[in-house]
Amino acid sequence: MTNGIVSLDGAHSILDLPSLVLALSPADRELFNRILHVSESVGELCAPESMHSWIEKLFGSVAAVERQTIIKTTNLVTFEGTLFNALRASRPFESNHSSDIDTILHEGVGDPFCSPLEGTPEDIFGRVHGVRCVTASNIAKYDAFHGVVVFEEHNPLQFDADSVNDAFDVGLEWGRRALEADPAAKYFFFMWNCLWKSGASILHGHAQVASTRDIHYAKVEGLRRQALDYRQRCGSNYFDDLIAVHRSLGLTAEVEGAAIVNSLTPIKEKEALVIGSAMDDNLKRAATLVLDQYVHRLGVTSFNLVIYMPPLAPAPEDWSGFPYIVRIVDRGVPTNKTADVGAMELYASSVVSSDPFRVAAALQTAVPA
Ligand SMILES: [Zn+2]
Repeated sequence: MTNGIVSLDGAHSILDLPSLVLALSPADRELFNRILHVSESVGELCAPESMHSWIEKLFGSVAAVERQTIIKTTNLVTFEGTLFNALRASRPFESNHSSDIDTILHEGVGDPFCSPLEGTPEDIFGRVHGVRCVTASNIAKYDAFHGVVVFEEHNPLQFDADSVNDAFDVGLEWGRRALEADPAAKYFFFMWNCLWKSGASILHGHAQVASTRDIHYAKVEGLRRQALDYRQRCGSNYFDDLIAVHRSLGLTAEVEGAAIVNSLTPIKEKEALVIGSAMDDNLKRAATLVLDQYVHRLGVTSFNLVIYMPPLAPAPEDWSGFPYIVRIVDRGVPTNKTADVGAMELYASSVVSSDPFRVAAALQTAVPA
């Protein structure tokens, strides 16, 4: 890293994906084609002379704009899908936050979350106290059990491995307390929205927890059913195969007991999946590593992090083989007023600028050998 820019010379690009798939061994290619579909196309345009200098300044050359290659990926199991345009993806990672954001992060100290015992309500089962955070009851609830994990530190980007681990542990303990209060509230969901681009309404560092009854939240239940259907059709675990496909293309980083996957169908920028068989130290270490690299090295300021996991108590439906998955996605620069999610993401396929090969290469340089 020099001058705040992370150099990744030699990393593959998303444009290489069709040829990389062709170069896979027959067995790896078969597995790839079972899960993913790749389509390549070229968009062309004619730019008037009067636009040339503006185009060169923004995109490097007129030729790059006149012929643009688009890679469209589709997950044939989950029907997540992404459109990558290399013209948008080639920009370097800027590892520095702008001073505007630093100023904003220091503003607002003294808010209700800075003194949570006085400034926030507690759940009917009380509060879970961690070392670096404490829970509160969410004042306007998504669901019957909806809590907040309030970080001790006001600045949401001022976290370290210990504080993130503490937030995970406290969140899970909150889920167990909710289950004691209502044995039907077994479907636990952990989420962390960081800064307003991610949907956070309060700047002070906090995650949220919810426990629901009867059926898990729609996207988690959908994934469980898709994975079950995959196992019945193909005879293998979908998540193991998803990791294997990404590993065969160099899109994983391995931490003991957990895999970090830079998805070929990211929901938005830089999406990483951290997958393990339990919410144990390995999975937490891997998730913390991704967050630390994203925020402290690759310039991410606003992000969403969630945990998908089986219910906290036995359920009538089949959760066997469903792992613990931490999903982390970059939500863009907080000072940019344009939303990163539009009609395409809500109703068609995600349009993504970041290149999963470059993000994976950056993460791999940080994984201890
Ligand atoms: Zn605060």
